[in-house]
Order: sequence, then structure tokens, then C-alpha cells
Amino acid sequence: MAKIIAIANQKGGVGKTTSAVNLAASMAATKRKVLLIDLDPQGNATMGSGIDKYEVEFSAYDLLVEDTKFEDVVQTETTGGYHLIAGNGDVTAAEVKMMEMFGRELRLKNALAGVRDNYDFIFIDCPPSLSMLTVNAMAAADSVIVPMQCEYYALEGLTALMDTINSLASVLNPELKIEGILRTMYDPRNRLANDVSEQLKHHFGEKVYRTVIPRNVRLAEAPSFGSPVMYYDKSSSGAKAYLALAGEILRRSDKAVKASA
Ligand code: ATP
Ligand code: MG
Repeated sequence: MAKIIAIANQKGGVGKTTSAVNLAASMAATKRKVLLIDLDPQGNATMGSGIDKYEVEFSAYDLLVEDTKFEDVVQTETTGGYHLIAGNGDVTAAEVKMMEMFGRELRLKNALAGVRDNYDFIFIDCPPSLSMLTVNAMAAADSVIVPMQCEYYALEGLTALMDTINSLASVLNPELKIEGILRTMYDPRNRLANDVSEQLKHHFGEKVYRTVIPRNVRLAEAPSFGSPVMYYDKSSSGAKAYLALAGEILRRSDKAVKASA
């Protein structure tokens, strides 16, 4: 049964989508069956997966609001070797329409219930807000990956996000965990980044991934070719970092399974 991981941070531009696309591709490259859900009306994860957000017949909107069958909504021909539920402007309407619906926080969870067994990992790329879309992602997920840039106010933002995740979890999803905190766009020559990184490890300990995503221009270029970075420049530091992250997540999952056995 798939592990469902939401990739969330209410702060914009911290590397959520880049992480969602490249982690999905890296996991798929290890022969895991992967589904990526683009819950962001910006549709960046969709375009970055080689699917034209303007051309798709169905999107996450249809899954969330119209009860369209999963098999009709899912895109199976991405450049990254994973399946995709597309996101585009229609998803904004889903947000509005869900507000009037019964069980509005659980629409995504219910839509995925029948297909969880078909995948090893389901990643959800969240929009930069704590909207009903993000609430749906967190209600459906087993855990959350929080990408963050090591900047001056990052820790404050992170504490606020953790509080929100915890209060949301207590109402909707008591099993929800923090999967890990991911340092993105990291520049080891930047002293502030190093300081913030140390504080982060001090506060959150083992939750901080050892793998660090460096600032790498290939990661920023790949989406304009509709491709995860590993199929655009496999020797780039960005490609290697996301493969390493996939490895770290798999090792951690194995450990957790052994510990609970
Ligand atoms: P939003 O909140 O708008 O959804 P996001 O958190 O999904 O943003 P991304 O879209 O992944 O963030 O990244 C923001 C910008 O930074 C993009 O232009 C992306 O290409 C670039 N970027 C992300 N990670 C890196 C990196 N490690 N090195 C260089 N550029 C990066
Ligand atoms: Mg994004």
C-alpha cells in the first residue's frame, strides 16, 4: 500500500514543486510505482512532468469535485516515469466548490482510497498556502516533507507551519507525521545558511534530512524542457541530490518498518 507524502510549506518559492517532481522521478527510477498529484493551480509540477496543463481533459479538479473516475483523470505518459494527476487553473474552482461540500476536507483521501494499493509512493505537491487544497493533502497523507531555504526568517516560518500541521492533525488525521525537513537551494559558502542549518538540526534533530539540495541551475532549467532534472542532465549536482534523497527516504522507511516489527 502506498505511502502518501504531502510536500508542503506555506512559504512560496522554497522548492516544493522542484522537490515533488524530482523526488517522484528518482523514486520511479528505483522501480517504485509512483503517483504525483499536482494540487497547485499554478500547474508547475504538471508542466515539469512534460504534460501540458492547458491540454489535459481532466485535472485534480475532476477528482476532487466531479467524482470523475481515477483511471480517467490519471496521466500515465509523463517524462519522469510516474503517473500524474494534473493541476491547472481549474483547481482554483475546486477550492471554492469544495467549501460547500459534505466532508470537504476528505475529498482527496476518499478519491485515493481505491488506488492506494496500486502505488508504492504518492507525492502531493501543495500550493503555497494553507488553503482547503493543502488541508485535503494533509488529511490524505501519512506524512509531510517540508522543503525550506536556510534563510533568516526560515525558522520562525517553520515553527508556525509545525503548529498548523499539529493542530490540523489533531482534528483530521491523528496519524500524520513529519516525514522530514529538506534544505533546498543550499549554498555551503553562505555563512547565514550554515548558521540556520545548524539551528535547524538543533531544533528538529533527526527530522532534518542529511541530504541537502544544492543551488543548481540545471534544476531551474529542466522544467522548461518539461523534464525532471535526471533526464535533462543526469550528472548535475541537482540530479544526484534528489537521487540521494530518494535513497535516504527509502532507508528511513525500512528502518521504521523494522522498528515496528
Ligand atoms: P511555489 O510556492 O510558487 O509553489 P515552490 O515552493 O514550489 O514555489 P519551486 O517552484 O520548486 O518552489 O522553486 C522556486 C524557483 O526556484 C523555481 O524557479 C525553481 O526552478 C527554482 N529552484 C528550486 N530549487 C532550486 C535549486 N535547488 N537550485 C536552483 N534553483 C532552484
Ligand atoms: Mg510549487
